[in-house]
Amino acid sequence: MPTVFASTEDALSMTQNSTQPTVAIAGGGLAGLAAACALAESRFRVTLFERRPYLGGRASSYQHPGTGEVVDNCQHVLFRLCTNLVEFYCRIGVEEKIRWYDQMTFIEPGGRTSVMHASPIPAPLHTAPSFLKFPFLNAKDKFAISRAIAVLTLTSQPDTGQSFLSWCQRHGQTQNAIERFWKPILVSALSEDLDLISISYAAQVVRESMKSPAARHMGVPTIPLTDLYNRAGDYIRARSGEIRFRNSLETFSPDPTQVRIRVSEKEEAFDYLVLALPFDGLDRVLPQIPEAIPLRENLTHFEPCPITGIHLWFDRQITALDHAVLLDRTIQWLFHKSRLLVARGTVATDSSGSYIELVVSASKTLIDKSRAEIVDLALKEVREFFPAARAANLVKSTVIKEVHATYSPRPGIDAYRPPQATAWPRVFLAGDWTATGWPATMEGAVRSGYLAAESLTRSAGIKDSHFLAPDLPATGFMRFFG
Ligand SMILES: Cc1cc2nc3c(=O)[nH]c(=O)nc-3n(C[C@H](O)[C@H](O)[C@H](O)COP(=O)(O)OP(=O)(O)OC[C@H]3O[C@@H](n4cnc5c(N)ncnc54)[C@H](O)[C@@H]3O)c2cc1C
Repeated sequence: MPTVFASTEDALSMTQNSTQPTVAIAGGGLAGLAAACALAESRFRVTLFERRPYLGGRASSYQHPGTGEVVDNCQHVLFRLCTNLVEFYCRIGVEEKIRWYDQMTFIEPGGRTSVMHASPIPAPLHTAPSFLKFPFLNAKDKFAISRAIAVLTLTSQPDTGQSFLSWCQRHGQTQNAIERFWKPILVSALSEDLDLISISYAAQVVRESMKSPAARHMGVPTIPLTDLYNRAGDYIRARSGEIRFRNSLETFSPDPTQVRIRVSEKEEAFDYLVLALPFDGLDRVLPQIPEAIPLRENLTHFEPCPITGIHLWFDRQITALDHAVLLDRTIQWLFHKSRLLVARGTVATDSSGSYIELVVSASKTLIDKSRAEIVDLALKEVREFFPAARAANLVKSTVIKEVHATYSPRPGIDAYRPPQATAWPRVFLAGDWTATGWPATMEGAVRSGYLAAESLTRSAGIKDSHFLAPDLPATGFMRFFG
């Protein structure tokens, strides 16, 4: 495993002294789980408190009452460049549950498909041959996009307060390039509209994905998300940790020698506390003391962004694709769940039928629509992209609106993302919205958990503790551009 934990000597001396430091972790999403796994492995005695009866937080699954099916709250994907998430999967033993794809299909209304894949040409030019063949972009669009990719990849793009859309307009991007290239790539990566995305976030997505051919390999879980993350629970328990479900942190009191917490009306004391809560849940638990004021103020700058998943079960196959990017319409991605989950065999109840999930990121236009309106819209659009769907009957459907899916990566927001160490030496923050250098993703959440664990172990006097995995190495010409 790539991660180096607190030195064995330090860890052993901790257990030999038999007073293992105790850590309370509030929040069983990826940030809390990553921190808990790292600390439990380093011989801290971890107790994780999760408000809900299951793990995974915003990346979870449950038995949907209306359909009787186990559904993910939304399809989650990762890329090989998510090195900490991949390392976390290896650590908890679920790496073989991720199926990797090295190509991405774009579909236009009417059904014409174009495939982006890597060629043997060195990075960052590896996808150029397939990109240059895209029929849905003309020569002017391609020239503008290539120039923009070169600028975003090869030069540093600090947050200047401008949005990516205004950057596009100032850098000669055609309307078609914006609508059919930048929108599909960035709105789904950052879950926000282009006029609200900071240039530094957009540049990071582009630069990271151009680093090497492997960087764009897309991973899709082949089991429900909570099954995936339950394995982190097993990992923690196997290292003397404890998980307490339906336990909500109410508040805490940071004393110099311990942290007292109130959970579900009971008080307990721990040596350390990691608050791995979403930004909109943290305010509620912060104590009413002066040191909490700057953090509270930071929280007021965060805005949530919605993502909507539309789950459709058809009586027959409507496409042979596992996934696709859909252009020019409301729905942005299709995931063919009955193909992705086929090894498990729990979702495709009828082998001739198919289960599709459609994803709309930054789905502000859907928030006020009813479930029936959204299903009608999705069906209409699916039938435009996939002619086979026109004859198919919809067996059942559901819509899951995640109104607080991610934080909006707006210009200026990085200044308000707090580090994992806080004003209180025994209290640490984790969560995709804390300062990680990454946007609101599973990778960002795991990074934040590892950073919190690094900060905590340093504070506990353990030298050389290092949890973060190294970034994916650049290959080809990208090696010369750091
Ligand atoms: C619809 C949707 C689609 C997404 N798609 C992708 C994707 O494709 N790829 C990707 O990388 N990322 C995706 N994301 C983002 C990703 O899910 C998040 O960035 C990540 O899961 C956040 O993890 P976290 O641990 O920081 O927060 P959370 O997952 O929110 O975890 C916080 C946990 O704290 C618990 N909690 C809250 N209050 C308390 C309390 N007082 N006491 C105890 N527990 C409490 C919550 O129940 C929750 O379990 C998506 C998110 C959504 C919602």
